[in-house]
Amino acid sequence: MSEYSSLGDVAGKRVLVRSDLNVPLDGTTITDEGRIRASLPTIRALAEAGARVVVTAHLGRPKGEPEDRYSLRPVAERLGELLGREVAFATDTVGDSAREVVAALADGEVAVLENVRFNAGETSKDDAERGAFADELAALADAFVSDGFGVVHRKQASVYDVAQRLPHAMGGLVAAELDVMRRLTEDPERPYVVVLGGSKVSDKLGVIDNLLEKADALLIGGGMLFTFLAAQGHPVGKSLLEEDQIDTCRAYLARAEESGVRIVLPTDIVVDTAFPSGDREPEPEVVGADAIPDDALGLDIGPESAAAFADVVREARTVFWNGPMGVFETPAFAEGTRAVAQALVEVTAQGGLSVVGGGDSAAAVRTLGFADDAFGHISTGGGASLEFLEGKTLPGIAVLEQ
Ligand code: ADP
Ligand code: MG
Repeated sequence: MSEYSSLGDVAGKRVLVRSDLNVPLDGTTITDEGRIRASLPTIRALAEAGARVVVTAHLGRPKGEPEDRYSLRPVAERLGELLGREVAFATDTVGDSAREVVAALADGEVAVLENVRFNAGETSKDDAERGAFADELAALADAFVSDGFGVVHRKQASVYDVAQRLPHAMGGLVAAELDVMRRLTEDPERPYVVVLGGSKVSDKLGVIDNLLEKADALLIGGGMLFTFLAAQGHPVGKSLLEEDQIDTCRAYLARAEESGVRIVLPTDIVVDTAFPSGDREPEPEVVGADAIPDDALGLDIGPESAAAFADVVREARTVFWNGPMGVFETPAFAEGTRAVAQALVEVTAQGGLSVVGGGDSAAAVRTLGFADDAFGHISTGGGASLEFLEGKTLPGIAVLEQ
């Protein structure tokens, strides 16, 4: 309990815990419960210390009002099963149900409040509106523990403002995540290799900017690779492309050349004529990275590139990986992601540090059958870990230090 010692004895106190329970759902079926599992130790520790634990979290992107498909109820049920204790559920976040459920908690009991993003105040850009909602959240508790690493880069009521209103402490998960991120940024053991992929291209370009002079090699796969290929003057067909970022990518390539950092791009690409859907069987084809046909789109790095990426990763002592190499949800386009994941596992086995960040990346390694402990660390926060690597201040961390 040492990390919560700043809160004093929590027995009998109502402790509001911001967790990250934003798991992927297929209807009401949880398809990857990694974030729930990662949230258990803090909740359990507080309950065992006699706190009345009130968990607040979000799910998906509702528009500031209740929406059934984003209810946290199935998540609360699963949380109870995994904790092995009864978990009460409030059908609102700060209303009558929340107040009743919290008032009924005995020492050591746990409740989950309905999706915090069902309230417009949670994500409002208006400080007063956010603050007013944070007042209501804070009224439910005597202390606050920030344990949702996936949201600490957000200046939101349940992450930021509530910490200004209650005695607060950092949860064990956030502390552990920060510890790993610091190992990546402060003097990482070399070679230090960063692998980037996924679909949020513009989100991730910032991290390249910061890592160019820090990493020894940067491997680019996933949706963002096509903007790099375009920057080299290659056709990319119907692949994901951010035209307004082509110049930025060209500048990164030039900078990498000057500073001796290796930016490794694929030499072959798995393409198809349509994005995978349930309506048709995939027809994957391997083409040169400089010869993507006009009517095709790139959906994975090719086998030659997958082997080359794996070779570079295997030589590393420190690896950070964010973003799948291809559309891994369809097996025909999952092999690049599998090869990279396998290479990270080998780095771990050789005593190096391998870190997987990002919700879809974490889901990908689990879907492909890798065990969590085959990696040094699977981060629960993609955006937060990227912003940390970019050198940005994370509002949800800074506020805890005040
Ligand atoms: P993370 O959640 O790990 O940060 P992202 O959310 O950025 O990763 O991206 C994950 C998504 O990227 C996956 O759903 C995957 O299908 C998609 N993706 C990977 N490669 C491509 C590609 N070549 N074209 C389109 N989407 C891609
Ligand atoms: Mg994602």
